[in-house]
Amino acid sequence: MSRWDADVAVVGLGAWGAAALWQLAARGVDVVGFERYHRPGHALGSSYGGSRMFRVTCLEHPGLVPLARRSLELWRGLESEAGRQLLFPAGGLLIGPEQGLVVGGTLRAARTHGIEVRSMRPAELRERFPRHTGVPSHHRAVWEPSAGLLRAEDSLRAAADLARRAGARVFTDSRVHAVEPVPGGVELQTSERVTRVRRVVITVGSWLRSLVDGLPLTTLRMPLTWFRPAAPHGDAFDLEHFPVFMRETDEGPVLWGNGREGGHDVKLGLEGYGPGARTLDADDDADRAVRPEDWTDIARMLPGLLPGLTELPAKIAVSLFTRTPDGQFVVGALDDDSRIVVGGGCNAHGFKHATGVGEALADLATGRAPRVDLRFLSPDRFGRTAATTPVRMEGAL
Ligand SMILES: Cc1cc2nc3c(=O)[nH]c(=O)nc-3n(C[C@H](O)[C@H](O)[C@H](O)COP(=O)(O)OP(=O)(O)OC[C@H]3O[C@@H](n4cnc5c(N)ncnc54)[C@H](O)[C@@H]3O)c2cc1C
Repeated sequence: MSRWDADVAVVGLGAWGAAALWQLAARGVDVVGFERYHRPGHALGSSYGGSRMFRVTCLEHPGLVPLARRSLELWRGLESEAGRQLLFPAGGLLIGPEQGLVVGGTLRAARTHGIEVRSMRPAELRERFPRHTGVPSHHRAVWEPSAGLLRAEDSLRAAADLARRAGARVFTDSRVHAVEPVPGGVELQTSERVTRVRRVVITVGSWLRSLVDGLPLTTLRMPLTWFRPAAPHGDAFDLEHFPVFMRETDEGPVLWGNGREGGHDVKLGLEGYGPGARTLDADDDADRAVRPEDWTDIARMLPGLLPGLTELPAKIAVSLFTRTPDGQFVVGALDDDSRIVVGGGCNAHGFKHATGVGEALADLATGRAPRVDLRFLSPDRFGRTAATTPVRMEGAL
């Protein structure tokens, strides 16, 4: 009898963990998944909210473009295996000052990697996408035809279901309290069981600090709002007329969102800088309560930028994401120890890459070099010292 309960464990089944589980199970790896809540795709982590923007023009880092391209192939593969559409490629708009974060970064990524985009002046934007108003003359809009909308929870559940079908064992309501290296592998502890595996993939999103010490991570709350079109504007806010967008203002905040799709209203948010985006402890339920400042700033912007939506949101939710000092993800083996592979630090732009990151995590957990070079995302770049305890024991077992 083997001393190992499985070859690999995946701890945390959000978008990234579910994708890693799917990739591992599809390769025939004996894999077990742990999710602390009742069902993958719950409302408490980073993957909630119905939809996420997909784009290839990764303005956050040039090294992410190959990852987005690979992710796109894998999203198509996931759709085909799951037998349903998860990515709606209606195109996307990046709007803002010509040299700004959003438009400047998008054009740079497009030029460097030969991505098809089209730059528009405000007048042309208004003609093609009349819901966007008040764009100053020194701003530009970049149209990326390859962009689109991913169905969030649906995608990660599809990956988790396919993993199960391929033989992965999944424990829900199973919070891993500790990951402890043992000779040749690691031991995972939940309140119900101790599980011994050769390697572990830790993808616990905003809870990463509670399992791994020494990474410079900050968890932020990010409000999400859904608005309805006022009666005469009906279809004008459907996804095909009002595609996914990011819109940088001269004042600083970046408004992002997407049109109605799959029964959801128009979704809007403010990139990281809204007054509702405060740091918090992912286990502090009190901070998840909705407050007026979670939606009032956006509501104030609407008459000038997106007229035709009702003044009050139809729905508000609070989501979480994790920030790193350089804005880049954390993907790689911890302290060069191939037994412990970490995927986190999403910086609120990681959903589109979930399938590519899942594949890379599966590669790392099975001793292969990832197909896309992700060494720039290594957890070691933050200079964790060998003296740092690699994994933390925490909570009562
Ligand atoms: C409001 C918002 C908007 C965003 N918009 C975009 C976008 O448009 N495009 C884009 O590409 N990205 C976007 N992102 C980022 C994207 O959503 C995240 O990168 C992605 O969802 C990260 O998923 P994750 O698997 O890392 O984390 P999560 O989805 O939070 O998953 C972590 C999982 O681990 C589980 N877990 C935690 N601790 C334990 C434990 N000890 N034991 C077992 N299980 C545990 C949790 O319950 C959870 O299910 C956005 C993020 C937010 C918050």
